[in-house]
Amino acid sequence: MSVDRQAQLATLPQVDALVRGEGLRSLVARHGLPPVVAAARAAVADARTAILEGAPPATAAQLEAAVRETLEGRDRRRVRRVINATGVILHTNLGRAPLSADARAAVADAAGYATVEYDLQAGSRGSRTGPVGELAAEVCHTPSATVVNNGAAALMLVLAALASDREVIVSRGELVEIGGSYRLPDVMAAAGARLVEVGTTNRTRIDDYRRAIGEDTALLLKVHRSNFRMVGFTEDTGIDELASLGRDHDVAVVHDLGTGLLRRTEGGPLADEPSVEASVANGSDLVVFSGDKLLGGPQAGIIAGRADLVEPCRRHPLARAVRVDKLQRAALEATLASHARSDRPLELPIEAMLHADPARLEERARWMVNELGDRARPLPTVAVVGGGSSPGTQLPSHGVALTTDDAEGLARALRDVDPPVIGRVRDGEVVLDLRTVPPSQDGDLVDLVLLARG
Ligand SMILES: *Cc1c(COP(=O)(O)O)cnc(C)c1O
Repeated sequence: MSVDRQAQLATLPQVDALVRGEGLRSLVARHGLPPVVAAARAAVADARTAILEGAPPATAAQLEAAVRETLEGRDRRRVRRVINATGVILHTNLGRAPLSADARAAVADAAGYATVEYDLQAGSRGSRTGPVGELAAEVCHTPSATVVNNGAAALMLVLAALASDREVIVSRGELVEIGGSYRLPDVMAAAGARLVEVGTTNRTRIDDYRRAIGEDTALLLKVHRSNFRMVGFTEDTGIDELASLGRDHDVAVVHDLGTGLLRRTEGGPLADEPSVEASVANGSDLVVFSGDKLLGGPQAGIIAGRADLVEPCRRHPLARAVRVDKLQRAALEATLASHARSDRPLELPIEAMLHADPARLEERARWMVNELGDRARPLPTVAVVGGGSSPGTQLPSHGVALTTDDAEGLARALRDVDPPVIGRVRDGEVVLDLRTVPPSQDGDLVDLVLLARG
C-alpha cells in the first residue's frame, strides 16, 4: 500500500472516539450505546474500503451522517402508522382491516396485566378462548366456536383434528393458492390429510362428490375462491346440496369462507360474496374464516359450527401452537361485540369505507383540491375490497390527482412524511383515493401533501 493511502487511513477516527463525540451524543441517548457502536463500526469500515478503492477519506461529519442514516433507516422500517390512500380497503401489505375505536381501546387495556386466562369470579385459572369463542358462536349463529391465530391456522387445525390420515374431498375448481406458500394441496399434506380431488377445474357436480365418498372420507370441504373468479361454462355445487349429501353419509361439511362476511346487507357492494349466515343456514357443519378481512377485526382465525367438531379442534395439541395472544383476543372480542349489536351504525372502519357514498367522497376531494391550490384536481376513481376478497367488485370512488413532473418522486416524498401517505401512481400523476382515508384525516392529508411538495 502506498504511503499516501496509509496516511489517509490514519485520518479516520477510532470507532470509540466517533461514538463519544458530540455529534452522536443524541443518537446514543435515543438508541443506546450498542446500536450506535455497531453503526459507527460499519461506517468506519465502509470509509476504509472507499479509501482503498481510491476515494478521498470521509470526514468526521460524513461518518456521523452515515451513522445517523443507518439508525434513522432502522426507525423508518419499524411498523408505522400510515395513511392508506390506495383505495384498496383490505390492503394486505398495510395490515388489512383497520381496527374500530372500541377494538383499539380494548388492545390498550389488555396490553398490561389482563384476564387472559383468569376467572375473576373463581379467582383462579380461566379459559383463554372460551369467552371469545362464545361471542363468535353468537354472531355466527352456531352452537359452538373457537378462535386461533389466523385463517390459515384455523383450516390447518380443522384438518389435523378432524381428518388426520383420512380423506378430504375438494372440488378441483377450489384448489386455490391464497398467496405465498399457502396452497390448499400443500396445507392438506402438512396437516396430514389426504386430498381427494373431484370434478374439473370449471365444473363440479354433486355426483362427483357422491362417487368419491368412501370408508376413509372424513370431510367434504368447500373453499371460497376468494381471490379469483371463474366466468363462462362453470358449475358449482352449493352448500345446501353438499350438506344433504354429507348428512346421508354421516360426513361433515366444512366451508372455508376465508373472507368472513357475516351477512350480506341489502343493496350493499358485496353482492357476490358468500356469507357466514348463508353458509350456516344452508347446512355447513363448520365454517372457517379470517378475523381481519370482512369481519373488520384483528388477524385471527374463527372456527364455528357443531360442538362435536369444534371440541376436537380446541383439544388438539396444535391448538396451543396457533393460539391467539391477548391483544388479538381483546381486539377480536370488541369487534365481535360490535357485530353482536343489531342497532348499531356502521361503526367498524371497513363498513364505513365499503358503504361510503361516492357523492360525499367527491365533496371531500373538492374540498381538498381547494385547500391544495393548483396542481391538484378531483378525480373519479375505482376502489376495491382487496385482501383476496370479492375480486370483481369495483367500488366507485373519488380522489385527488396530484399533477407533477415526477410522479414517482412525489410518491416517494409522500412516503417520507410522517405519517407516510401511500398513494398510487397513475398516468404520470399521484392519485390519492379517499374511500380508504377516514374523513377525520382529510386535514392532515392536506398538510402532508403540502409538506411532501416542499
Ligand atoms: C385469506 C384466506 C385464508 C387465509 O386466512 P389468513 O387469515 O390470511 O391466514 C384461507 N382461506 C381462504 C379462502 C382465504 O380467503
